[in-house]
Amino acid sequence: MDEPVEKPEPVRGEEARRVKREILGIADRRKHRTREMTPLRAHVKEPDARHRVYRFRFYPDAEQVEQLSRTFGACRWVFNEGLALRSQGWEQHRVRVGFAETCRALTGWKRAEETTWLKEVSSTVLQQSLRHLDQAFSRFLRGEVNLPQQKRKGRSRDTATYVRTGFSWVEDGERAGTGLLKLAKQARPLAVRWSRALPAGTEPVRLSVVRDRAGRYFVSVLVEERVGPLPPAFVRGSQEPTAVGLDLGLASLVTLDDGTKVGHPKLLKRYADKLARLQRELHRKVKGSRNREKSRQKIACLYARIRDVRKDMLDQLTTRLVRENQVLVVEDLSVSTLMRGAPNKGRRRKAGLITAIRDAAWGELLRQLTYKCEWYGRTLVIVDRFFPSTRRCSACHVKGPALHLSIRKWSCTGCSTVHDRDVNAAVNLRDEGMRLYWLVAASLPPDRAMPRLIRASALEEAMPTA
Ligand SMILES: [Zn+2]
Repeated sequence: MDEPVEKPEPVRGEEARRVKREILGIADRRKHRTREMTPLRAHVKEPDARHRVYRFRFYPDAEQVEQLSRTFGACRWVFNEGLALRSQGWEQHRVRVGFAETCRALTGWKRAEETTWLKEVSSTVLQQSLRHLDQAFSRFLRGEVNLPQQKRKGRSRDTATYVRTGFSWVEDGERAGTGLLKLAKQARPLAVRWSRALPAGTEPVRLSVVRDRAGRYFVSVLVEERVGPLPPAFVRGSQEPTAVGLDLGLASLVTLDDGTKVGHPKLLKRYADKLARLQRELHRKVKGSRNREKSRQKIACLYARIRDVRKDMLDQLTTRLVRENQVLVVEDLSVSTLMRGAPNKGRRRKAGLITAIRDAAWGELLRQLTYKCEWYGRTLVIVDRFFPSTRRCSACHVKGPALHLSIRKWSCTGCSTVHDRDVNAAVNLRDEGMRLYWLVAASLPPDRAMPRLIRASALEEAMPTA
């Protein structure tokens, strides 16, 4: 980001209206309102309803390919026009053009002779494109990001979002959770490969259709699910909640305190090798050439593949862990924690890629654990990053010297227990997490449920002073 500059005051009132009307050519609101005012039914979310996205591949027929391609193009065009309008308004006249105004402009574009082709595309889809622009532009105005970029064919992801009125859904009576999904302005339903069933009886709330760089089509279905907490998990025959400590590592992605190691380093390495090779290839190709574009596509595909594999693997892991355990303990995710395991500067790029893949996995793991604990009534404890999980002996709690990354096994100077580096760390995390858990439990009034998230660094504020 650039140097912080003094925020200019936006122009408001009559002057702003004049600029919008005379310079930007946006129709007045009043005229628009009397004609198109339809009451919106507010969507009421049930308290235990959760939004969840399921992604499926689908195979469009020739007609659908054509229609979708037009839709993607129109979304891009509308996004760019809206962006031009908003940035022109802001940068030249200090006038803020809002979502509703871009929608009014859209109505105008659809009427204009040279852009009547916009009518071939569902208007709700185009409005969603403006909605995305609105979110991006608001972030820009808040100073969080740079000005949104124009979408370019072949450069930006091809995507279109359909809200509830933009598609129809008929659930299959024989196979619950699958059915017929038909998009607005299309004659036939999509040929979706139902790799899994949606929760039976759910109504999709929103769809987004994506064509990836490899030319594959996916539909992401947002559904509202009723998710209740699971019954509490206790150690067999006691009132002690079950707990697990998770350690993040380079040798394996995740190590559990029972010694389980998850996340195949070989898989990670294979991807990193391939990624490094593709990137070398890319750098050799002439800028702007066809071959370079092909190379870039391959890299994008590989990234997508890594993301998919990682997400699936972590999804299965976190679901299992959350089902089996009442308390889950992890280390704090902060940049410095992650950098601790990073290879030295000047080490090969590949090692950096492995680290990058792993760090992204850790972020994803934390994200999943957080929402699943929230959904299923479990507690996630995030231990302070200064806690010496690696150096401490989990048997006698003697704190040894810092361990070099290459040391996988060590023996304690206090009690001579031989430790696996990562398992020892996971055990320490679990113990420390449980200490914090009981600390919080003791401070709560008896009728209060345990919080879903305990963060060591925020504990002082959360704890009532005794
Ligand atoms: Zn020891």
